Amino acid sequence: MSGTRTQTVSCENCGRANRIPAAAQGSPRCGNCHQPLPWIADADSQDFAEIAEQSTLPVLVDLWATWCGPCRMVSPALERVAREMAGRIKLVKVDVDKSPQLQQRFGVQAIPTLLILDRGKEISRQTGAAPPNILRDWVEKTLAGRTQPA
Ligand SMILES: [Zn+2]
Repeated sequence: MSGTRTQTVSCENCGRANRIPAAAQGSPRCGNCHQPLPWIADADSQDFAEIAEQSTLPVLVDLWATWCGPCRMVSPALERVAREMAGRIKLVKVDVDKSPQLQQRFGVQAIPTLLILDRGKEISRQTGAAPPNILRDWVEKTLAGRTQPA
């Protein structure tokens, strides 16, 4: 089980290293200055439900593979978006070679494919590489347009 999987993230605000779980309710904050921390996690078919679908924060899913050239450009851009939008979005990276079930389930024909999930439901999709500012705009617009839970 992945319930205890954690990672160490440095706070962008005060520099304090924080240990944060891959799966949790809400969003992680710095133990020192209480600013939201960027949340970036890896998931596979085993723990995708726990890490991505059960997240209360909207999730940006990066479906990528090690042999995919454009993925190597998109992934750092997405990590930047996740840092800039800390507390508003969680980035979950899925290696499709390790999780063909997820690739099949989301009907992914080409990678990178990016999904935005809101409480487990796909609300937007972007296929192929795009410049960082376009990706950021897409995420911002999608979050702005999503229906807020009552
Ligand atoms: Zn801090």
